[in-house]
Amino acid sequence: MTVVASGGRTPALGATRTREPDIVATIGSTPLVALDRLFPPARFQVYAKCERFNPGGSIKDRAAKSMIEHAIRSGKLVPGVSTVVESSSGNLGIALAQLCNFYRLKFICVVDPRTTRQNTAIMRAYGATVEVVDRDPATGEYLPARLERVRTLLRTVPDAYWPNQYANEYNARAHHHTMREICEALPGGPDYLFVAAGTTGTLRGCAEYIRESGLATRVVAVDAVGSVIFGPPEPWEQGHRRTIPGHGAAVVPPLLRPDLADRVVKVTDLDCVRGCRRLLAKESILAGGSSGAVIAALEGAADWLEPGTTCVAVLPDGGDRYLDTIYSDAWVESRFQDENPPLHPGEEGHA
Ligand code: PMP
Repeated sequence: MTVVASGGRTPALGATRTREPDIVATIGSTPLVALDRLFPPARFQVYAKCERFNPGGSIKDRAAKSMIEHAIRSGKLVPGVSTVVESSSGNLGIALAQLCNFYRLKFICVVDPRTTRQNTAIMRAYGATVEVVDRDPATGEYLPARLERVRTLLRTVPDAYWPNQYANEYNARAHHHTMREICEALPGGPDYLFVAAGTTGTLRGCAEYIRESGLATRVVAVDAVGSVIFGPPEPWEQGHRRTIPGHGAAVVPPLLRPDLADRVVKVTDLDCVRGCRRLLAKESILAGGSSGAVIAALEGAADWLEPGTTCVAVLPDGGDRYLDTIYSDAWVESRFQDENPPLHPGEEGHA
């Protein structure tokens, strides 16, 4: 495995790491790692931008830092006084919990039952209040129910502020920097960027940087089967159950600029599990569900990617948060028993 760019993260053995003023300053500068075992470079070269190396463990540290620091600068948030209220599937919640602790802000995080006990425990350890809401009775989806609870809290909690990750430009803006880091490691940028879409902050921020810099990089958005981000689901997607958090959405995020995605690939939960397990088996990388989605999309792209191209896959988080699901044979067996072909416990894939 080759570390292409480290941003100070991979000193030679025995060397001293860069000195940072505080933990928030360590957000970003994540490593870009070649995936030569999973994708033999004779056909096309794939690098993974490993966002689990952020201090909160995911790509959402970047968005949280950008949104909170902008709100403090503009006077919308007052340390020691304000309460941040946000809806999150987990990673942004953890990122905000750390940032709010750092900036002495109160934080109420609205989550749904898909958020793991470990994630809620981490948020609470940082001092956050965690509220769990159930599916919206009308749509059967979690997101509308979470947003409704946020609106209620904004009316009832004094000095409450909602970053609103689905509409906040500073969520997207954080990722101009993500893409700049990729281009510093790969001068001229990769030919393709594969990125999972949830709020579409990563997609938009990276794509805006690409356009503004005049790069030729094409952006492949990876969405979940059944998600509505890039349009209503096709008839065959109806009824597909999405249980893996991170990518996909039940409402179109206001941040979305669909013209910024050159191609959209939709993947199932089973694709995510397979992608995660192959990444682990071949590259020894324990990654989260949406990383498995991106890997599955890349594997599917083998048919249309031009030989010799360079691709970057953004891996939003690590797999430690999915040990009871994606990496649990018992969970996999019960979740996919009706799928065809099923994933057998312990299966690592064939790549
Ligand atoms: N993957 C994971 C694990 C996430 O937590 C998120 C954020 N919900 C995404 C992908 C999607 O990123 P974005 O919100 O920037 O579209």
